[in-house]
This record gives sequence, structure tokens and C-alpha cells, in this order.
Amino acid sequence: MNLLNKMSIKSRIILLAILPLTVILIFSVWEAFRTQQSLQQISVLSKEVIAISDISRYSTSLHKARLEKLENTFNGNKNVIFIQLNECLDKIANTIKDIYSDNALSAVNTPLDELRDAQNELQLVTQMDELEEWSSWTNDLINQLIAQLESTKVDTGTIKLESHLNALFTLEWIRLWATEENWLIHIAIVEGHAKAHNNSHAPHDQLATLFERQQYLIERFLNISADASQVSLLLKTFSDDSFVESIVFRDRVLDESQTALSKQDITLGIAALDKRLELIQQATDQINAQLTEEMAHNIKDLEQRLWLTIGLTVAIMAALFILSINITRRIIFFLNNTLETFERLETQDEADILASTEGQDEFSHFGKKMNKLIHERRENEHRILAAKEEAERANLAKSAFLANMSHEIRTPLNGIIGMSGILSESNLDPIQRDYLNTIDTSSQTLLILINDILDISKIESGNLLISLHSSNLREIAYDTIAIVMSKAKEKDLQLQIQFSLHMPHMLIIDDHRLRQILMNLMSNAVKFTNHGHVTMEINVSEIDEQRCTICFAIIDTGIGIEKDKQDTIFEPFTQEDSSVTRQYGGTGLGLAISSQLVELMGGRIEIDSQKNKGSRFFFSIESSINQAKAPHIRELEAVSFIIISNEQDYVPQLSQELHYFGLTNHATYNSYRDVTANQHATILYCTNEKQDIRTALTAISHRYPDSPIVLVQSGNSVSSQYSQLIAGLVTFPLLGSRLIDTLKHAQNLYNGPISMTSEHHVRRYPDPIHADITRSSSLRSSINHPDTQSILLVEDNLVNQKVASLLLKKSGYEVDIASNGQEALHLLCDESNQYHVVLMDCMMPVKDGFTASQEFRLYEQQYNKVRTPIIALTAGVLDDDIRRCTESGMDDYVSKPFNKTVLLEKIKTIRERTDQLSTKSGFL
Ligand code: ADP
Repeated sequence: MNLLNKMSIKSRIILLAILPLTVILIFSVWEAFRTQQSLQQISVLSKEVIAISDISRYSTSLHKARLEKLENTFNGNKNVIFIQLNECLDKIANTIKDIYSDNALSAVNTPLDELRDAQNELQLVTQMDELEEWSSWTNDLINQLIAQLESTKVDTGTIKLESHLNALFTLEWIRLWATEENWLIHIAIVEGHAKAHNNSHAPHDQLATLFERQQYLIERFLNISADASQVSLLLKTFSDDSFVESIVFRDRVLDESQTALSKQDITLGIAALDKRLELIQQATDQINAQLTEEMAHNIKDLEQRLWLTIGLTVAIMAALFILSINITRRIIFFLNNTLETFERLETQDEADILASTEGQDEFSHFGKKMNKLIHERRENEHRILAAKEEAERANLAKSAFLANMSHEIRTPLNGIIGMSGILSESNLDPIQRDYLNTIDTSSQTLLILINDILDISKIESGNLLISLHSSNLREIAYDTIAIVMSKAKEKDLQLQIQFSLHMPHMLIIDDHRLRQILMNLMSNAVKFTNHGHVTMEINVSEIDEQRCTICFAIIDTGIGIEKDKQDTIFEPFTQEDSSVTRQYGGTGLGLAISSQLVELMGGRIEIDSQKNKGSRFFFSIESSINQAKAPHIRELEAVSFIIISNEQDYVPQLSQELHYFGLTNHATYNSYRDVTANQHATILYCTNEKQDIRTALTAISHRYPDSPIVLVQSGNSVSSQYSQLIAGLVTFPLLGSRLIDTLKHAQNLYNGPISMTSEHHVRRYPDPIHADITRSSSLRSSINHPDTQSILLVEDNLVNQKVASLLLKKSGYEVDIASNGQEALHLLCDESNQYHVVLMDCMMPVKDGFTASQEFRLYEQQYNKVRTPIIALTAGVLDDDIRRCTESGMDDYVSKPFNKTVLLEKIKTIRERTDQLSTKSGFL
């Protein structure tokens, strides 16, 4: 079946038409051949019948000739007799020639030739015994001829013909023996009764044999061969008086006791004998005629059958041919039409594409049904398009609504968060500080919720796109840990981080979204874990030199999730159960957003969790490698490090980190007492709460007064009291650039002025504990003492004006305020004003931030001014808003409500960038 299915429909249809045609043709040819054979056989049979009739006539003529010879009248009629005999013989020879093949013909021609000789010899016969001998010779030859014919098999396939032939042969034999009997009786009469009686018993015996033979033949005829008409013909023949008379006469001739017969008896007897012969001859002729008629009838039948077969075959073949051509064309036309219609439907968008419905058959019905489907499909398409347009309109409306809502909510929120931040830096009593904390926490939660809802709606509307750029994955991980660290500390949880050794330094990823995912998973892990640890594992397996697969896993020893809930928690607003909401709070959006984001990155978040044992959330994404190896830290390359481990198990990870940055010159000692090195080095002192850290630090600084000491503490330990003794503080597991920055900072301090107390003879460093433990630690210190820089704040909202200006002034900046774009342009275009940075709100009355920025950039170009950096302050967080900021010439953006640290860092970064550019252009 499968093999057949590999053939085209066209080929199969053609095969279907050709196969029956071939079968019919073969059958018809075979039938015609058989009929032709039967016709040939009947023709042979008719020749045989003619030959029998000729032989019969020849035998009768020969009998007459010998009778004339016997009665001495031969010489007078000799010529006529010979002509007759020769004619008969020629006819027999001609007929026989058509019956036999050349090989068999010679066997039949031999008795014929001998008969010709015998004819000629008859003239020479003079004596009685010579005549008798001649007679038996010729009789023998005729016998041979008949026997030869009888043995020739003819298969006409018709029983009736064969039975008639049998009857004919039987009668022919009877006629032959009757003729012989007639001859012997004539001889007996001519030679004289007495002589026959006295001298020989031969005629008597011969006659008896002949008589028996005839009787036997008659019985055979009646029993086997003859049909009813033939039997009645024979009965009629044999019941004739002449038969009885001839038999009585024969018996008298042969009867030895009988006296010589009178002349009259002889005349009457001979007449009866001749009559009997004549009657047999007549019966033979009649059967012969019957057979001939039968054959003619059969020939006619066969010829009719032959023509009928040929006619029927031609008709069926023609009909089949026409039918198959028609069906083939119809099917092929239909298939082509259907395929063409489908192709046109796929490629064109015309309304008049329809399948053919021509005709009244099943294909026409199919065509009509198909057209109905096409019509329905078109209608559905229109409906879907309309629905899609409607959905898109609704989506746009939703996005616009969300953007507006977000703007409207964020602006007051900005006020709340900003003001509570400023307030927290003022002198507050503990109760006031607690209230303020609650305000801050609630407003932060509200902000997260707004962001999550926005994200979910962006993902659902397909507006959230992944934007890839080169990022440091390790830093993303450290930043995430840094954020959850205070919460983990509160719960006394151990935070761990594990990286692959061969982690590429810079990868092409969407760092913002990856931070969001890791943040969600990590904050969940911390939130739902009460004892034990939370681990972030990041393993990288290389695909090739350019690409790698990053496998993330966040593992905790928390409350775990029931098996049947493990799928549903990824749905928006779904939590494991209501008790979770009661006990831990949350909205059930974090995992939904994270899983969608991971899917957008080409991965899938999976979960492996056991109730009350813990959970493991893991996923893999592929990424391109931008920079495989971390750059060596030139400033620290010459520095040697001493790690005092104090049996802390994170020490291998610390030394591995130093290796990662190419800082290989380090030695590890278990205790500060074991340190044997005498050289100048940076000392990394790992705290152990069981030990007296102060004593150890004092001892070390006495022993190595020229070496900066960096305190390494694990996340949970609190060591704020050693600030005067150390040059830097590293909180494990926050390594990476934080470690390097701290080491650099410590190194700078060591190289810079050192103040010592006379009492303790220890160095005094700026307080590293109160410096931000995040990357902004160094930034902070510099921002706290900026060269007085002036910032133009363009903001219409009074609260925001207040928050931002207070915050900036507190950080040492001079701030001018403009309430809209128009005012901002006035101030910016005034030569007497020199702003280092512009903070530009986007949505404002009179002139919005986008237009103002565009116009200001044009102004700068026109008057060849140095480019003043503009940072957008945007409450909108849609990708579109951010794109618009860049397009209108702004350099960066801070989303509202802004985080103080982020805002200050952005100002610093953008200032540095501008300074670098102006230095470069100054060189040029
Ligand atoms: P939320 O944390 O705001 O409830 P999420 O979508 O982040 O929303 O999480 C959905 C739910 O999945 C949580 O409420 C909690 O039932 C379950 N869950 C998530 N992370 C963990 C975890 N680490 N351990 C136990 N349960 C978790």
C-alpha cells in the first residue's frame, strides 16, 4: 500500500484504466483464437466428410467396374468407367491434401497411388481368380483409406458433430462390407452354385464374416453413435423388404443343400442385393448431408461468435477507454484545480479565489463544499482581523492607561519615598524612625507592585522585548545577593554563591531582565526560608568559542511547595495557598513574570521541591560570549596579599576570586600568629566570631604598620566596631568588583596620608563600615564632596521639585528649578548659566521634556556649544518612553520614583563621561 502511495494519483488512474483494458484484450484474443481453431477443425471435418463421400462413390464405381468385368461387359464401357474412376480418385486426392500435413500425406497417398495402379491392371485381368484377387486388393486399399481417415482426430469441441462423424464412419463400413458381400454373392452366382458348393467353403466363410461385421457395426451404431433420427433412419433402411430378400437370397446361394437357383430367382435376388446396397448408400448420403448441414450451422455459429467477441471487445475497450480518459482528465483537472486554489489562497489575497464547481458529480459537490469553506474562512479571517484590530486598539488603550496610571501613581510615590529618605537622615527619635520605616517599606512594596503589574501587562500584550548587551553576569549575581542580604541577615540565613570556574567575563544578555528574574527567585528563597541557607549556583557550559549555555539554580532550605501546586504557582496572582499570603504576604506575580521572561530568553524555569525540605528553581539560557577572560587589575598586580583564614570555610572561594582577577601573589595563614612573611602586603583578615578580633587587628597593625588590613566578614556577622583599625571591609559572599574596589581603596589609603592616634598607634581611616557596601561605596565618598556643580532640575510637580532639589543639595550640588520645558530652555540658553547636568521630566505642561531636549540639542549645534548631559526623569516605564528619551537627545534616564543612590550614580557616571570627552576634545 505504501509503495502504491508513492506513485502519483495520475499514474495510478492510468494504471487502473490500462489494466482492465489489457485483460479484456487478452481474453478476447484468446477467445478469437479458440473460435478460429474450432473453425479450422470444422473445415478439416468437412474435408473428411467430402473425402468419405468421394471414397464411397469411388468404391461403388470400382464395384460396378468389377461386376462388368465379371459379366464381360467391361471392355465396352471401359473408357467411361476409367474416366469416372480417375475423376473420383483425383477428387479424393485433392480433398485429402487439405486434411493432412505433408508428412502424414505420404501415408495416405500410398493407397491412392496403388488404387491408380489397380485401376490400370483391371484391363489385364482375364481369369476369374485374378479378378477375385484384384478385388480383394482394391478392397484392402479402400479399407486402408477409410481406416486412415477414421484415425484422424478432429477436435471441434462439439459432441454432436463428433457423434455424427462416428455414425458416418460406421455406415461407411457397413456400406463397404455390404458391397463386398454383394460382390462375393455375384462371384458365387457366376462361378456356379455347384462349383461353389463342391470346391470351396471360402465364399461361405467370407460371407459369414462380412455378415457378422455388418451386424456388429449396426449394433455399435445403435448403441453408441446414433441419435434418435439416425436410429430411425437405420431402422427404416434395414426394415426394407429388399434387405430380407437379399438375406434370403444370400442364404440360398450359400446353402449347400439347395439345388441350383432358377434364373428368375437369381435376377430377383441380385435386384434385392443391389437395392440393399443402394439403401445403405442412401442412408450414408443422408447422414453425410446431415453432418454437412450441422457443420455449416456450426461454422455459422462460430463465425457469429467470433464477430460478436471482436465487436464486444472493441465496444468495451472503446467504452472503457473513453470512460478512463474522462475520469482521468476529471480527477487530474480536479486535483490540479484544488491544489491551484489552495496555492492561490496561500499566496494571494483576492476575494474571487474559488474552486471549480463545473459538472454534477462528486467533484462538483466537493468544489461547492470547498468554496463554502473558503467563504467561511474568509469571513473568519475578516472577523479575526477585526477582533485583532479591536484587541490591538484595546491593548494600546490599556498601555496608554497603564502608562498614565503609572505616571500618576509614581509622581506622588516619588514624593513619599523621596521625602521619607530625606526625613530618615534627620534627627528622629526611635518611634518616629520606626513609623518612617513602615512608610518606606509600604511605599517600596507599592512601587514593586506597580512595576510587576506593568511588567505582566507588557508581557501579555507582547510589548516586552529582550534587549541584549554586554554584561557581567557575576556582578549581576553579586548585586542581587547584596539586595537580599539585609533580609537574610535578619533571618540569620546563610547566603551562598557558586560560579563555574570558567565563567566568561562578559556575556551578551539582558542584564536588567536577568536581574529581575534572579531578584524574584532570590527574594522568594529568602522570604520562604526560615532556617538554613539560600544558594545561587551559576554554571556555564561552553557550546563553542562564541556561545555558551548558562545554568542558573536558586536553592533554599525553606518551606518547600507541594507537588500538585508546583505548576500553578507560575500563573499570575497564584500562591501555594492562602496561608502563604497570610504569613508571608506577596502578590503571586514574581514567578509569573520571571517564567515569562525566561521563556523570552529561550529557557524554561523548572522546580524541584519537597514540602518542608526546600526548593530548587532552575533554568538554562544560551548566550553569546563577549569577553572570555577577566581583565587583570593593573593597580593591584604588584600587590601581594596575605589571607588570614581563621578556619573560615569560604577562604578557598576568596583566594579563587583573587586568582580570577589575576591576583596570584597571595599566601594563606590559619592565624595571624602564623604569618611569617615579612614583606609589605595587603592583609585580608577573615573574621571568626569566636576570636577576639580587636586584639588580632591591633596586633597585626602593630606588626605590619605599612600593610592595609581588609576585614572579610561573612554576611551574618556584624562588625561595625573596628572601623578605626581597618582599611576596607568585604562582606562574603559579595566579592567581584566590590572586593576589587575595596582592595584598590585600601591600597589608595595606604599610599595616602595616615593619621595615627598617639595612644594606640593605630591608623585612622575613613569609616568603611558606613560607606555603602554596594558598588557605590567609592562613589558615595566622592559624591559627598563634589566640586560645586550646578544642576538644572526641570520638573512641574512641586513635590518632586522639593524631593529632588533637597536630595541634590544634600549631596552637595547647586540646583536651579524650571517648571516646564519652556522655562528650562530660557535658563539653558542664558549665557550666564553654566549647568553640568540637566534633570528633565518628560511629561510637563507648556512644553514637555522631549520637545525641550530636542530644541536644546538644536541650539547647542547651532551655536557650537559643549553638549550638556540631560538625564530624563520619567514616570513612564514603557520601552517606548525610554526610546523616545534617546531619540529626543537625552543621554540617560532615571525612572521615578528615583532611588537616591541610582540618581547620584547616574549623575556621576554621566559627568565622568562628559569630562572624558571634553578632555579628549581638548587634546585634539
Ligand atoms: P509571591 O512571592 O509574591 O507570592 P511569586 O509568584 O513569587 O509570588 O510566588 C508564588 C508562590 O510560589 C508563592 O506565594 C509561594 O507560595 C510559592 N513559592 C515561590 N518561591 C518559593 C520558595 N522558594 N519556597 C517556597 N514557596 C515558594
